[in-house]
Amino acid sequence: MPASVIELSLSALQNNIAFLKKQFENTKISSVVKANAYGHGLKQFLIMAVECGIDHFSVFSSDEARKIKSCLKKPVDIMIMGWINDEDLEWVISNQIDFFVFNHDRVDKFLEISKRIGIPAKIHIELETGMNRTGFHYRELNRLIKKLNENKQYFEFKGICTHFAGAESIANYKRIHDQIKKFKSLHKRFLKNYLIPETRHTACSAAALSYPKTQFDMVRIGILQYGFWPSVETYIQFLSHNNMQKDPLKQILSWKSVIMSLKKVKTGEFISYGTSYLAQKDIKIALIPVGYSQGYARNLSNQGRVIIHGQRVGVIGVVNMNMLIADVTTVEKVSIGDEVVLIGKQGDISINVSSFTELSDQLNYELLTRLPVEISRVITK
Ligand SMILES: *Cc1c(COP(=O)(O)O)cnc(C)c1O
Repeated sequence: MPASVIELSLSALQNNIAFLKKQFENTKISSVVKANAYGHGLKQFLIMAVECGIDHFSVFSSDEARKIKSCLKKPVDIMIMGWINDEDLEWVISNQIDFFVFNHDRVDKFLEISKRIGIPAKIHIELETGMNRTGFHYRELNRLIKKLNENKQYFEFKGICTHFAGAESIANYKRIHDQIKKFKSLHKRFLKNYLIPETRHTACSAAALSYPKTQFDMVRIGILQYGFWPSVETYIQFLSHNNMQKDPLKQILSWKSVIMSLKKVKTGEFISYGTSYLAQKDIKIALIPVGYSQGYARNLSNQGRVIIHGQRVGVIGVVNMNMLIADVTTVEKVSIGDEVVLIGKQGDISINVSSFTELSDQLNYELLTRLPVEISRVITK
């Protein structure tokens, strides 16, 4: 048995996808699986998502697109939202993979290749609407529109899109509204010039829920499908608007390990490196073979919680590179090899990433995506 395993619940994903389909009834869902499917494990997640009826996936880079191609036999739509190695662009176009085009450099490169190999590229023009990240500024549009109109046979105009600068916080309300307005007016510029995109897509999870008019023809959903909310604000707002009491999502990931060793420590002794934990009484400790190199954040030292024998117990001392220590004084009949839940449920007790992340001061996104690829992922019911 490995030091820890990540279990992925198929029924939780089915629940989440059903929820999303109900929320976004008239809109296509693209499942965002960048960063190793938010740390869940790309291959296992893809298998599950396809089983749930998903057929469109968004990634950040061309190497992630290659991984999808190698994991899945069934043909699915793939869209690259960011980085493409120069050497990969021809592969992307000849494999009919959709990709974002956000500057003239990429226009020139894809046109050169499409002309040479005689396969039209499937492009999504990304527009700058106020985030000031990637995307064509309106001042660049005349030149872009001219180029596109002169080369119409070399591409399929699959979409126009943009990305919002922080839809998960109400503090950005005005900025998001300005972005929506700008997007609509820039879309019209294309139509007036006889360039008609097949789809308009702008929304990530937070925008799709909090600003329904951003849903357009497709939504790009990452965090929600994994059972997490983009922010506490988005969560509270959703519940109150829908008169709900209970979280409709289920976290699909559990992270489990086992007790590697047990020991009794006398009052007055320090535990682990340094002096951050002093035993105030005689205690019993369990060593667990997971540390910060496996994604268990160091700032959970003396703060984290794990579940052993259906009981929540504290992490004591500093989290080491490959080990952490739990206080099991109150747990009866513990033995080596017993299950330890780092994230997830045991009986009625659960440790979820949100309670984790408040402690470790990381966003859900960050903790998840830092779970190392080396940990094995197993699909469960
Ligand atoms: C990551 C990403 C998304 C998905 O964001 P979530 O908040 O996880 O739903 C959507 N669009 C773009 C461009 C992204 O980079």
